[in-house]
Amino acid sequence: MTVEEHCKDNKLCSKIRCPMCSSLILSPDSATLHIESISLPKVRKDGGEEIIESWWLVDDMFTFDNIGFSRSASGGLKYLTCADCEIGPLGVHDPKEPKKFIIAASRVRYNDSAVFTPN
Ligand SMILES: [Zn+2]
Repeated sequence: MTVEEHCKDNKLCSKIRCPMCSSLILSPDSATLHIESISLPKVRKDGGEEIIESWWLVDDMFTFDNIGFSRSASGGLKYLTCADCEIGPLGVHDPKEPKKFIIAASRVRYNDSAVFTPN
């Protein structure tokens, strides 16, 4: 599975769902592809950190169909989690950049696929 399969003209062309409970997070056309190397804690506790390079960028938190925010983590960052089952972090938001909410492309489920296959 590659990010490009879900991207057309740099825009998301698939639905993005929670990898755990399938709650809808983003609708098609609501996000743009964003490439930046950012470290994100792994979903498993004590799993260390992972460098994520491909993200879905949204400039307004109300664009999300469903999203949760964890309490401030290191450096004042906020982690984006599933609003229903609270799995995360699925993305990150830096309050110093109010128009930047990013979801890790490798941590979400696309469309209505039943099986989550982590990269
Ligand atoms: Zn969920």
